[in-house]
Amino acid sequence: MFHYENGKLLCEETSLEEIAREAGTPCYVYSSKSILDAWQAYDAALGDLPHMVCYAVKANSTLAVLSLLARAGSGFDIVSGGELFRVLQAGGDPAKVVFSGVGKTVAEIELALRSGISNFNCESEGELAEIDAAAGRLGVTARFSLRVNPDVDAATHPYISTGLRDHKFGIDIHEAPAVYARARRFSNLRAAGVSCHIGSQILDYSPILEAAGKVLSLIEQLQAEGLPIDHVDLGGGLGIAYQASEQAPAIHDFIGALRDRVERAGLTVMIEPGRSIVGPSGVLLTKVLYRKNSPAKEFVIVDAAMNDLIRPSLYKAHHEIRPLQNGGGAAIVADVVGPVCETGDFLARDREMADAQPGDYLAISSAGAYGFVQASNYNSRPRPAEVLVNGEQWRVVRQRESYNDLIKGESV
Ligand SMILES: *Cc1c(COP(=O)(O)O)cnc(C)c1O
Repeated sequence: MFHYENGKLLCEETSLEEIAREAGTPCYVYSSKSILDAWQAYDAALGDLPHMVCYAVKANSTLAVLSLLARAGSGFDIVSGGELFRVLQAGGDPAKVVFSGVGKTVAEIELALRSGISNFNCESEGELAEIDAAAGRLGVTARFSLRVNPDVDAATHPYISTGLRDHKFGIDIHEAPAVYARARRFSNLRAAGVSCHIGSQILDYSPILEAAGKVLSLIEQLQAEGLPIDHVDLGGGLGIAYQASEQAPAIHDFIGALRDRVERAGLTVMIEPGRSIVGPSGVLLTKVLYRKNSPAKEFVIVDAAMNDLIRPSLYKAHHEIRPLQNGGGAAIVADVVGPVCETGDFLARDREMADAQPGDYLAISSAGAYGFVQASNYNSRPRPAEVLVNGEQWRVVRQRESYNDLIKGESV
């Protein structure tokens, strides 16, 4: 959805330079077509199988993005009360919401129950007890899955790998039958499914298939013991190509491989993709402020920083950086750095790139997931604006923060 035409980088049919000039920089820009295409690729590949595609809100929780997906019929995977609030504000259907996460508070559980969400993905027995008690107080029955930890290695960055035995997530798959059995005493709970999510940015999906196999065997065992399990939730985690050397699996192929395994089980299949829907659909626009040479390095100093996009600093993540004018080849090797007072503030290191001069604009690619959502006000920098493109049209869907926004709620 991002391509050059006559030397100008476009998002759909809109010039990114026009957006950069009018909306200012730094600025996130998302393609609505790219987001919807990716969501529909999941939905279409699941086809006639009973299913629910629950977009993982934490990847990008901007209201306009959620609203786009809600109108397409998406469900939502949330990890906090704040995310539930956003989904409801965006017009999402609470009956298609699943609530994941290891540390749900009582207030969040009550909000979710009052809103009528579909299912809780639970991660400990203490949490089951809290949900049972809250459901009892409100006079409702809560459907739950245990998030099991299948002990498979997702082969991704250690911070975003979640399916090994020593990770904080889930309940050991071997202990799950006993936990489901003990949960029968909770009269306000109904065991409705089993869930798992083994990590993020997974480029080789065979570990997800391995985990699915283990989860489906567990479900057979639970059903044989008389539990009313009617769905399997296989989480998210499909990776995207951040650089030319990476090959992202096609959503269609991935779901095809999963289908082979789940089809016969007669279950509703739920999946929770985040990154693979919004990641490739967004860029972060930035302006070059200065060029600087040290004896050892060439620096391109830009107006976006680690507070706007932390992935390079936090995960050593690679994001392609392209000029908005002229797709010409690499001319320099430089570090692209922001104004934040940390040596860890970089967007690229030793990068072969265009010879960008002060005043030129750059696009940091594949920034739609885990980009704005991890932005902070570090160094008292207002968070960037966000723009949604639809064909030749675009609009600001979140205004750039002002200095007054920075001190909201504070007193001296
Ligand atoms: C983060 C997360 C997801 C989404 O992961 P992606 O890699 O963005 O697809 C899905 N489910 C759970 C429980 C998560 O924590």
